[in-house]
Amino acid sequence: MISTYPFVSGKYLIGGNWFEAAKKTNVINPANINEIVGEVALCSASDVDHAITTAEKAYESWSRSDIEERASTMHLAAEEIKALVEENVTLLVRENGKVLVEAKKDLLRCVDIMHEAADELLEWWKPEVLPGNQKVQIRKRARGVTAVISPWNSPMILTFKRVIPAVLTGNTVVVKPATNCPLTIMSFLKVVASYFPAGVINVVTGSGSVIGEALCSDPRVKTIAFVGSTETGKEIMRAASGTVKKLYMELGGNDAAIILRDANLDEDSIKRLRFGVLRAAGQVCSAIKRIYVHESRYEEVVEKLKKEFQRIRIGNGIQPDVEMGPLNNKSQYDYVKGLIERAAGSGATIISVGVQIDPESWDQGYFILPTIITGADQNSEIVRAEQFGPVIPILPFSDLDEAVQLANDSEFGLRASVWTEDEELAIQLAEQLEAGAVFHNNHTVFQDLHLDFPGLKESGLSREVRHCGLEYFADSYGFAN
Ligand code: NAD
Repeated sequence: MISTYPFVSGKYLIGGNWFEAAKKTNVINPANINEIVGEVALCSASDVDHAITTAEKAYESWSRSDIEERASTMHLAAEEIKALVEENVTLLVRENGKVLVEAKKDLLRCVDIMHEAADELLEWWKPEVLPGNQKVQIRKRARGVTAVISPWNSPMILTFKRVIPAVLTGNTVVVKPATNCPLTIMSFLKVVASYFPAGVINVVTGSGSVIGEALCSDPRVKTIAFVGSTETGKEIMRAASGTVKKLYMELGGNDAAIILRDANLDEDSIKRLRFGVLRAAGQVCSAIKRIYVHESRYEEVVEKLKKEFQRIRIGNGIQPDVEMGPLNNKSQYDYVKGLIERAAGSGATIISVGVQIDPESWDQGYFILPTIITGADQNSEIVRAEQFGPVIPILPFSDLDEAVQLANDSEFGLRASVWTEDEELAIQLAEQLEAGAVFHNNHTVFQDLHLDFPGLKESGLSREVRHCGLEYFADSYGFAN
């Protein structure tokens, strides 16, 4: 039974009140496009204005509220959220296409984010006294109204990782989730918002080009925390430039994995490689999107990965035995299909394998089989674009300099990985790779919620996020006497 969800369908939240939108659109189950999961409000620019006015008003008292009370309230809210995980897991699967295990992990991680950020706050907020003759303190204060704009691919974690530290540091927020996948976010934020004064957490939904623009160009918004594509990120930077806002930008990626001549390619390594490529059907900013293999191991990697992909069970993530779900929406599905077709058209070899759990209803969802592409050129679209799907081009290299040059030959710089038995060599290569983080014999996420490493180049702004992101939403200022 889903208790929270019907309440949020087609509505938006401002100042503790839920409003019925004049215009709405359907949220579709990507594993069964005949199923309407719920509705999402298509807010207008004037709804955004209302949300910002309300958040600005609430900021006056919230920014002065007691820091210990903020933290203890967040812990209480987290406990209620934890109790709601089970009943919201299927909602996330139905609106996003994730498989059950992943969806549950994501929801539980939201609970951890709340507890850990609340714990971190108290120590981190204390003024730092600098040594020297003059007594100088570094103190912190909130920044004001914060816009949190999130994508559909990992909607829960990416929204909570911004909303929670923003609220804890005394800001008020206007959240704009993606239109394809807003319902679980709204269900959870409905509960979190109810623990804080009205207007601290507001949620508007709708078209990015209409309300996103209104949110990002408004002078009353002081910080924008955006996770999404590089293209949208650039539009947001343009809209925000008029009032010089603080921008926290986590953008697209085209991560390279480099497999060296001495790499251990046992069963476990191949499983980690598969996870790096196919987690959430490849719809992860930091998924492996290109593999470069030393020419002496090329055939072996293709063969082993193909065997691994052949076993994967693809279908509706609501079934417990399904390991990979569909793509989230039609435009992403059409885009990835188009990339594969154009790669085939240009002479590359396409290897699509996997177990279709329910072949009769395959056409009713945005399913694509795990696909390996060989024989593609470094300058081909399938290698250069962020595919964001279950498809992986594999290219050979002959020496280390070439491997680094190929990996760095991209406008993106999110993550990379080096697969070798030689840790010293992995570190040497990591120094040369243009990526916000480099993994050794793995390509995964940072388990520690206290830190993150956003991308280089066109993959984002800010380089090192510590203290659960709290530092990002507060300003430091000096106080001397
Ligand atoms: P997107 O850029 O299309 O949309 C992201 C959000 O921005 C949505 O809520 C959308 O409605 C909104 N938006 C669209 N136009 C806007 C505008 N002009 N002004 C303000 N907001 C606007 O991205 P997506 O397709 O939802 O997500 C996939 C992308 O997100 C991929 O490129 C992926 O790499 C990236 N991503 C990056 C990270 C990271 O940490 N670096 C994490 C997850 C996803």
